[in-house]
Amino acid sequence: MIATSSAGVQKQTAKAKGFNAFEMAQSQFDHVADILKLDDAARDFLRVPMREFHFTIPVRMDDGKVKMFRGFRVQHNDARGPNKGGIRFHPHETVDTVRALAMWMTWKCSVVDIPLGGGKGGVICDPHNLSDREQEQICRGWIRTMARNVGPVQDVPAPDVMTAPKHMLWMLDEYETIHGVKAPGFITGKPVGMGGSLGRTEATGYGVVFTVREALKELGLKPSGCVAAFQGFGNVSQYAVRLFRQIGGKAICVSSWDQKDQKSYTFRRQDGVDPDQLLGITDRFGGIDKNKAKDLGYEILPGEAWIEQEADVLFPCALENQVTGANVKRIHKRVRLVAEGANGPTTPEADVVLKERGIFVIPDFLANAGGVSCSYFEQVQCNMNYFWEKDEVLGKLDTLMTSAYLAVSDCARKQKLFMRDAAYVIAVRRVVDACRQRGWF
Ligand code: GLU
Repeated sequence: MIATSSAGVQKQTAKAKGFNAFEMAQSQFDHVADILKLDDAARDFLRVPMREFHFTIPVRMDDGKVKMFRGFRVQHNDARGPNKGGIRFHPHETVDTVRALAMWMTWKCSVVDIPLGGGKGGVICDPHNLSDREQEQICRGWIRTMARNVGPVQDVPAPDVMTAPKHMLWMLDEYETIHGVKAPGFITGKPVGMGGSLGRTEATGYGVVFTVREALKELGLKPSGCVAAFQGFGNVSQYAVRLFRQIGGKAICVSSWDQKDQKSYTFRRQDGVDPDQLLGITDRFGGIDKNKAKDLGYEILPGEAWIEQEADVLFPCALENQVTGANVKRIHKRVRLVAEGANGPTTPEADVVLKERGIFVIPDFLANAGGVSCSYFEQVQCNMNYFWEKDEVLGKLDTLMTSAYLAVSDCARKQKLFMRDAAYVIAVRRVVDACRQRGWF
């Protein structure tokens, strides 16, 4: 299963001219630094990563030629615990995107109050065009470079866009070979039975819906009457659609990237999409077969159509820079809630419009924290070498996500803050306190 999102939507996003995810993450941070009246030392320290690694991975390709791949690891902050965050494989990966994602991981681990910091990694490559053997060589090469700067008590990687449990196991194997130890807590998102946790695959999508369930109560909406439009059909969206339907809601569309046409499409069915049926016609990157979808009664609409659907809830579960100043006005007047399954889907410009229109937002690093929370549970299980039943994992996840959500919504209400700002206030304050207690500033 590919983690996080349908790959192609990102391609569009990553290419978008003028958009820089790191500048966006910094501007969000600067805004909350003003609210918290942080001093210059705290601002200067937290608006940039603590450490960065940029490197080249040589890989002998299947045709015998050697090709070079650029790799990154950014460790934003480890005041609250080892750095934590995924490794993305993407043809348009940039170090600024990795920096932004590392910073968002710091806030994500903090807002759900797990003892981990923030990091992110990436490799510029397109798994669509790489064999399994070539991908394995990239994974092993990444670890060979980073082996001394990552580890269970330093920095713990995980899957992200276009990486999956098999990549995590290759990385673990290389790490253990280099160090001559067994260290299953070094990496998370491993296959179940090889140190992975039950529930990890579902965790991010389910976590989004746990927070949506709580938000709907606050908005006085019953899930049974609720209609939602989803962007993406990767790991997050697939499970978010499932649980949203289980709590009684109706999903009217998902979207996915078409590798052949090099663009995305929205798949809509007015009586609701069926994720299991769609999965049967979806490739391993989350790409849905258009012709087969038509036969199953889906309308094939332009990629951006998900945003203008008549729905109560929007779930952007693809990539950064999806709800922007250019398209935010197309959001239907019925929409009451935006639940950000992706990292950084909404730009600050679009936020202004959402605020004006009184649309409730569950911000990304809160809404999609279920993945890393379950990664934390996976590490705990690996450390004690005792694995929980799926219900136990998902029950603990629900408790953790729900209490994080309630703390943020309580802060938003009491301090009259936009939900994103409230989440930032809680998360940044905890990290600042940790740095201060350690005597860093
Ligand atoms: N890549 C996921 C995220 O962005 C999960 C990270 C993890 O499990 O460490 O939250």
